[in-house]
This record gives sequence, structure tokens and C-alpha cells, in this order.
Amino acid sequence: MKYYDIMNSACLDVGLSMNEEIYRKFIQYKDLIKFWNEKVNLTAITDDEQIIKKHFIDSIKIFKFSPLKEAQSIIDIGTGAGFPGIPIKIIKSDVDMILLDSLNKRINFLNEVINKIELKYTTTIHGRAEDFSRKSEYREKCDVAVSRAVANLAVLSELCIPYVKVGGHFIAMKGPSVEDEIQEGKNAVSILGGKIEDIIKIEIEDSDLKHNLVVIKKVKETPNIYPRRAGTAAKKPLK
Ligand code: SAM
Repeated sequence: MKYYDIMNSACLDVGLSMNEEIYRKFIQYKDLIKFWNEKVNLTAITDDEQIIKKHFIDSIKIFKFSPLKEAQSIIDIGTGAGFPGIPIKIIKSDVDMILLDSLNKRINFLNEVINKIELKYTTTIHGRAEDFSRKSEYREKCDVAVSRAVANLAVLSELCIPYVKVGGHFIAMKGPSVEDEIQEGKNAVSILGGKIEDIIKIEIEDSDLKHNLVVIKKVKETPNIYPRRAGTAAKKPLK
């Protein structure tokens, strides 16, 4: 129970609380990350305490956007080793969660995590974000799309906003300085049907890490021409 208190403090900070079952799942997840990381490149962070703070607590802090607690369907775009999607799912066990990534080795890892720690209503998708949001079963179907460390805001908006229902949200997890990125990306957000609603500051317990959540509300449908072909958003970001 070495990390119980710090994780509980992080949960309390976002209006949630930890319990032993949730904590046990986080520790199992940590152990799976360390085991798989020996053969598959999942994360450069391998120390227990750093995994807890930089991956788990950082992900938990997304609940500072409190409507996330009411969401029924969430997609995590470019989830990698499962951040922030798996921590959200461990805490909010009843949500429908989709974890999408273009690297199959990471998807195989996530499938193992889902089985071992018994996460229900969790689907993985191996593929490019731009390809799946064109399909009617995914387009504008999620209450919330989340993403961390995948691309700048202009590019990311084209990958994520098409999945969100009108009235839902896209939450981009960003580093300490977001002002320039917001200036460069706000027109793209608007073209794709979004509106920047809030910037929420995040602090990680017992560290000097300071992050930001960019909260984007979907206010109108995404025009049919978006997303453009896979790779185009990164090569020619919307301006
Ligand atoms: N979100 C995780 C985190 O914060 O630890 C992983 C971040 S990692 C730097 C970026 C991930 O995004 C990679 O796993 C990569 O495969 C995925 N990715 C990048 N572009 C993508 C796209 N167009 N569609 C799906 N996945 C993508």
C-alpha cells in the first residue's frame, strides 16, 4: 500500500476517492507495464514512483474536468500504453471505453491488461484515428474524446473532434505552456466544430509538474470532408 496515500490525495483533489480494489488494479497495471516494457517499447518511465506520478496521477487529474464523471462513452486517441484511458477506466468502471492506437504491439499489451485486471466494456482499436472516425459506428458517437502526448492542438483536433457527439467534449492533455499552441490551433478547432471552453491547470502531488487540460466543447457537426486522409493533418495542419 506504499502509494495508496498519494494516489488517494490525487483522487480527493478531483472529487473522487480511492479504494483497495481500485488501488490493487493500478498496482497490477504497473507490474504489467514493467513486465511488457522489457520486450515491447511502452514507456521510457520504468521507476515505480515515476509511473505512479507521471502516468497514473497525471491521468487521474483529467477528472478535474468534472463532467467526465458523468460521461457514458469515452475514446482515448493515441493511447499508447493506456494513458489516460486505462486509469480513467479503472476509476470509472461502468464507462464504455475505446482505446485506439496505430501500433499493434501496444494494442496487444492493452488487450492483456484488459483481461488481467478485468476491465469490462473496453474495446481496443488498432488503426489510425483518421480512418475510424469516417465509419458511421464511431463518427460523433462519444461523449468525450481524450488524448495525451500525440500531436499539437491543430493536428489533434482533426484526429479527435470527429468522434465527439455535438454537445460533448474533447479534452487535450497538454504540458506547462499551451498559449502558443492554442493561438495556432484555435481556428482548426472551430473548423472542426469545436469551441475552446476552458483551460484547467493541473498539479501533480509531491512534484513540480504543472500541466494543462484544454477543454473543447463540440458545438456543431464536423464537416464531412474531415478528417482528411491519414497523415494529412500532420503534414498540413489546418490553420
Ligand atoms: N497517450 C499515451 C501517453 O500519453 O503515454 C501515448 C503517447 S505516445 C507519445 C503517442 C501515441 O500516439 C503512440 O502510441 C502512437 O502510436 C499514437 N498515434 C500517433 N498518431 C496516431 C494516429 N494518427 N492514429 C492513432 N494513433 C496514433
